[in-house]
Amino acid sequence: MQGWADAMSSDDRNYARTRLRLGALLALALLCVLAHVASASAAPLASSNGQVPTHLRSQHSALTGPDTTPPTTTVEGLPTGWSRTPVTLSLVATDDEGGSGMSGGSAKTEYSGDGGTSWVAGQTVTYRTWKRGGGSGVHTLLYRSTDAAGNVEETQGCEVLIDARPPLTRDDASLAAQLHDTTVSFTANDSLSSVAITWHSLDGGVWQQGPSVVVPASENWGVHWVAYYSVDNAGNAEYLKWCRVTITADPETIVFVTESGTRYHRETCQYLWHSKIPKTLYIAIIEGYLPCSVCEPPQLFQ
Ligand SMILES: [Zn+2]
Repeated sequence: MQGWADAMSSDDRNYARTRLRLGALLALALLCVLAHVASASAAPLASSNGQVPTHLRSQHSALTGPDTTPPTTTVEGLPTGWSRTPVTLSLVATDDEGGSGMSGGSAKTEYSGDGGTSWVAGQTVTYRTWKRGGGSGVHTLLYRSTDAAGNVEETQGCEVLIDARPPLTRDDASLAAQLHDTTVSFTANDSLSSVAITWHSLDGGVWQQGPSVVVPASENWGVHWVAYYSVDNAGNAEYLKWCRVTITADPETIVFVTESGTRYHRETCQYLWHSKIPKTLYIAIIEGYLPCSVCEPPQLFQ
């Protein structure tokens, strides 16, 4: 048996080897071209930061198909917590990278202040305040954006908390004259941001905070004034208010008068060396005696 190679001449065998080499070279060259084309189309779209260069976006869109991703809206200028001043919000829409963008076409940002019943196109929303607490409340803002290709973002919402109304504080001071230490309590209300602090000052003294103040009775006869006001969590301060606490001595307290004087005294007063007649404070007052300015005896207040 002879192989087919043995049947061929020497020239025939050389020719066949050459054809095999040429075929392998051509196949290799084709592979190189295909690999180059693949890398050339992929490399610029997948740059190191994953972003598509601007000049390639149209090619990218053509390669990846139509934009089906809605944009995203963020709110800027939203205060944390309560505000007592006007609030202006900016709605900033961003479309997905390589998307159809936020200009032209169907692109818009819109918001609703009535729970989605009506929508207004715009990117700036201002909540105003005015006198007597106007504009106060918990405002719910709904917003959404649509990109140029018409992809509508799912509706988002935020709450704008505005309290331009000061708190209201009441006191429980009695009009009746008091014999003993007397506590005045304050009740402060604020329906929105709630009360943060109540300040009070007794007879023009240092301002202190707290829900009550004690007016001492000991030798503190007379009319005392308590000033107070509250501040809410939005920073609204109430106008100053006042109440009165009258401290009186017990009308049955024994005081002393002299035979000829017009004043009544404490038992230890120096003016009592000549005569010393005891009376109740009440009787001394209705008989027209005045308190001694030296020994400063108890006084009756109503
Ligand atoms: Zn006296």
